[in-house]
Amino acid sequence: MSLVDGVGRSIDYLRLSVTDRCDFRCVYCMAKNMTFLPRQQVLTLEELHRLAALFVGQGVRKIRLTGGEPLIRPGIVELCRNIAALPGLRELVMTSNGSQLGRLARPLVEAGVKRMNISLDSLDEERFRAITRNGNLRQVLDGIEAARDAGFERVKLNCVVMKGRNFDEVPALVQYAIDQGIDISFIEEMPLGDVGRSRGETFCASDEVRALIATRHELLDSTENSGGPARYVRLARHPQTRIGFISPNSHNFCASCNRVRMTVEGQLLLCLGQDNAVDFRALVRRYPLDDRPLVEALQKALKGKPLRHDFTGEGEVQILRFMNMSGG
Ligand code: SAM
Ligand code: SF4
Repeated sequence: MSLVDGVGRSIDYLRLSVTDRCDFRCVYCMAKNMTFLPRQQVLTLEELHRLAALFVGQGVRKIRLTGGEPLIRPGIVELCRNIAALPGLRELVMTSNGSQLGRLARPLVEAGVKRMNISLDSLDEERFRAITRNGNLRQVLDGIEAARDAGFERVKLNCVVMKGRNFDEVPALVQYAIDQGIDISFIEEMPLGDVGRSRGETFCASDEVRALIATRHELLDSTENSGGPARYVRLARHPQTRIGFISPNSHNFCASCNRVRMTVEGQLLLCLGQDNAVDFRALVRRYPLDDRPLVEALQKALKGKPLRHDFTGEGEVQILRFMNMSGG
């Protein structure tokens, strides 16, 4: 069983958002004042599990739980256990801001989460607070260390690079990843949602980040692929750490896109950079015991998966949906 879109791309990866809420308000992801979804508009844990099972039944092999901050959703560990047990799923992975990992890293490993991506944009307490608006750096670093020790198959850091905010910290962040023996990816900021500032002023292309790292380290190009859009390099003197570049603006990766997203409202997003969506919450609630209409809707939706996104990197809002609503 496999899912194929209208231009022949095989879709085996679902990013499933379990909440739009978050304990942080990162400047690239949210506006300062956000309104979150009322409870009845959010998929229940049972509905999330049902949709995960449906997608795995249709050929999805990898599910990433995301949000918002997935670890503030009550019942998340149980949900992970239930999804990880789905026959046919190869791996359940997660993206988190790390704030709750001090207490949850081990239960998540035990529940079957294989890999953990953790966002880290600064190693300076004040800057970290300024970027996340609410975040406590110490708590996140403790979370990263707990994740490193908990037994995940891989822990990776994610950093959104912004000129004038954290570009100068790229070498320190690389050194931190080396010291922890983990990978790190640097991400170009995408124009999702009106966050109340022009993104063009801080936009930083991956090539500049790479050039800065190359002033300190010998970089070896790598063809490795972790099933996502990152392009990797290895450090000649630190083989245990890979550096990834996720460049939605400067290096379009749509030709190899293998994923779709489900928002916590049950909207199936066929492309992060386009507005097409299909309302699965309505289907889930209209057909509580019959999956056939949902399978049909999924097959039909995939035929309309857009060919590519078209971010310009110039800073205007191109998609009105915020990243926390898109299931980053
Ligand atoms: N709260 C979790 C976290 O921060 O890792 C998971 C959800 S967050 C939306 C997922 C990823 O999207 C994070 O790595 C975050 O840095 C990234 N992100 C959020 N807004 C972005 C934007 N406008 N452009 C690029 N990456 C963004
Ligand atoms: Fe929250 Fe993650 Fe968005 Fe930051 S990037 S506000 S941690 S959802």
